[in-house]
Amino acid sequence: MVKTEDAERLMKQCQIGVGGRDALDKAHNIMADCYGTIGALVEERDALLRGEYICKKCGIRKNSEHNHEIRF
Ligand SMILES: [Zn+2]
Repeated sequence: MVKTEDAERLMKQCQIGVGGRDALDKAHNIMADCYGTIGALVEERDALLRGEYICKKCGIRKNSEHNHEIRF
């Protein structure tokens, strides 16, 4: 899962931009990070839209069928 602080750090990098001799390499690395981060966020968003969530009691990713009260 993408951490908010990691996404914010990446956004800041995009905002600042790159310069200097290895600017192209830096830009390429940032783009690769953006690609992975956006992909992960969209995947997470789609899972949430399907009704999946992370149970606040047990911390496990669950679908909408999850009932925390069930004991086995
Ligand atoms: Zn639970």
